[in-house]
Amino acid sequence: MRVGRAEVGQRSETVHRANLSAIVRRLHERGPQSRSDLVAATGLTRSAIRGLVGELAAEGLVTEAEAVHLGTPGRPSPLVRLNATGAVVLTLEILVDSIAAAIVGLGGETLAHVRLDRPRMELSVDDVVADLAALAADLRGRGDWRIVGIGVAVAGIVRQADGMVSMAPNLGWIDVPLGARLARALSMAVPISSMNDADAGALGEHRRGAAVGVDNVVFISGEVGVGGGLILDGRLMTGAAGYAGEIGHLTVNPDGAPCRCGSVGCWETEIGERVLLARARHAVDEGREGIEAVLREAQAGSETALAAIDHVGRWLGIGIAGLVNVLNPRLIILGGPNGRLLPFIGARLDAELERFALRASRELVRVVPASLGIEAPMVGAAELAFDPLLNDPAAFFRGGSASVHLATA
Ligand SMILES: [Zn+2]
Repeated sequence: MRVGRAEVGQRSETVHRANLSAIVRRLHERGPQSRSDLVAATGLTRSAIRGLVGELAAEGLVTEAEAVHLGTPGRPSPLVRLNATGAVVLTLEILVDSIAAAIVGLGGETLAHVRLDRPRMELSVDDVVADLAALAADLRGRGDWRIVGIGVAVAGIVRQADGMVSMAPNLGWIDVPLGARLARALSMAVPISSMNDADAGALGEHRRGAAVGVDNVVFISGEVGVGGGLILDGRLMTGAAGYAGEIGHLTVNPDGAPCRCGSVGCWETEIGERVLLARARHAVDEGREGIEAVLREAQAGSETALAAIDHVGRWLGIGIAGLVNVLNPRLIILGGPNGRLLPFIGARLDAELERFALRASRELVRVVPASLGIEAPMVGAAELAFDPLLNDPAAFFRGGSASVHLATA
């Protein structure tokens, strides 16, 4: 079959775009690389890498440092690094007790960040959107940023495609078109991508935290609500519409307490921070400060605090055993306050896993705290917002034709 000249041109353009993507993604995920590293990683020729890196440098996305002699034979290879301000994303986070915004540079460096603690109460969408717009305006005023996308992490059940929040029980939100509301308030001609905060935490830990290089991971977030982010075979499992991973609403105790989702005995009602605080005889809305107080009391030997922590540890173990049996993960990451409990509950978790998890799967899994701490979802939101650029850097060249990707009007 004869291949037309136009078709050959199209194919070579596709290959060219894929090669640029491979280079930018590698630099973004691994940090600075020598040209020789890039040759080895991509299988492209030395001259092809030189040309592609030159294109990226002309667009301001990378810089090349002087070649350094390392005492190895052969010509030294220049070090290629991303220019953090060559392209940045705006990230926004809505949790029950705080909102946050950040400017994150290509390569993952946070260039500006602001977090605003808020009282724990059901929050009006108008207030949250206005506050986020104010934080964003503050950050945008701090530099001449080339913003290529916006990533939003929200403590609720959210549709990734358009940021429709189906339910955020602990914010008191039902069917809120958050993506569209933010697009109007921010009025920036770049795509907005939204995801659940636990999914964002999982993505953050997978790209830059405790789960780098691990392809089967369960991230368990936990503050007031308990969420889950599932990485299976290296990919975030989103389900049909992005609602997957709501492990906080697995029924574990049909005779248990009512849950804010409308059901009874959800996992959240046994391991959420309100349970810990109530059992440790603290007010249930004390939040992070209350959790720290309970940890101090446990450290000092308080039996009430230790019993409260053990209760959460037991139910964590029961739920984790079920997840281990279904998903066969290599790593379970405890985000939020539950990660802070780990030093106290290791033996309890082992005992419950011994009882309820299948041996073959149990022997492969480790339970660790989130290495990015409270910022894991913000890191994940940035990664989500960078994905269109990483997949096709050429589309962003020459003034950033990001509008071709515009998802939310
Ligand atoms: Zn529930």
